[in-house]
Amino acid sequence: MLVLRGVILGAFVVCTFASGVPVLMYHEIRTPNISDTALRRDLSCSPDQFNQHLDWIEKQEYITITSGQLLRIPLSKKSIMLTFDDGRKSHYEAASLLHQRGMVGVFYINSASIGTPEHLTRSQIIEMSRMGMEIGSHTVTHPDLRRLSRARLLVELATSKKQLQRLIYQPVNSLAYPSGAYDQGVISAAIRSGYTSARTTDRGVFKGRDPFRVPVIRIHPTTTTRDLARMVMKGYNK
Ligand SMILES: [Zn+2]
Repeated sequence: MLVLRGVILGAFVVCTFASGVPVLMYHEIRTPNISDTALRRDLSCSPDQFNQHLDWIEKQEYITITSGQLLRIPLSKKSIMLTFDDGRKSHYEAASLLHQRGMVGVFYINSASIGTPEHLTRSQIIEMSRMGMEIGSHTVTHPDLRRLSRARLLVELATSKKQLQRLIYQPVNSLAYPSGAYDQGVISAAIRSGYTSARTTDRGVFKGRDPFRVPVIRIHPTTTTRDLARMVMKGYNK
């Protein structure tokens, strides 16, 4: 019986690890328009489409998690993490939509962009944090971290963390590498600056292997819920 229980427990743990946690990467939650550059259009997801994704997430009975929970993988509940890059002003509305549904998201912010045109203000970020959203760092100025001197690299990582923490009175533990650019030196500097995880733009589903190489499912303006389901399943089956 004990052996049998061990087998069952072992099978459960393996099964939970194998499925992993999908981490979705959003940029702007806005309807793209004709005057947008191709890049901006590609980084947009309309509010309608975003709501459809949230409907699907609810229907699939996922719980939305923060980076701290992600590190506790394998998780006993079916989990998904929603992330939003660049601190764009549309993220305030996205956070409100999540909050109305009892969901959470992780918002990666460049500290130098706060309060500038098209970006979140200080009071919006404070309110989002109070809604239960996680605020993460996307560095100070969004540089390619691999190209910086060691001193400058530490400033980008440590200063953004400090500035955001001072704003929300909460620890800022997670980082998203700007443009997904990182190497071993960047990872070492992130660890030294006190982060506990970092999100990449590498494709995949997080299976608990390396918290400084968290992979993503990238959301495009054309990503339907059917695409989302397919990408999540594909990640699961890798
Ligand atoms: Zn970015």
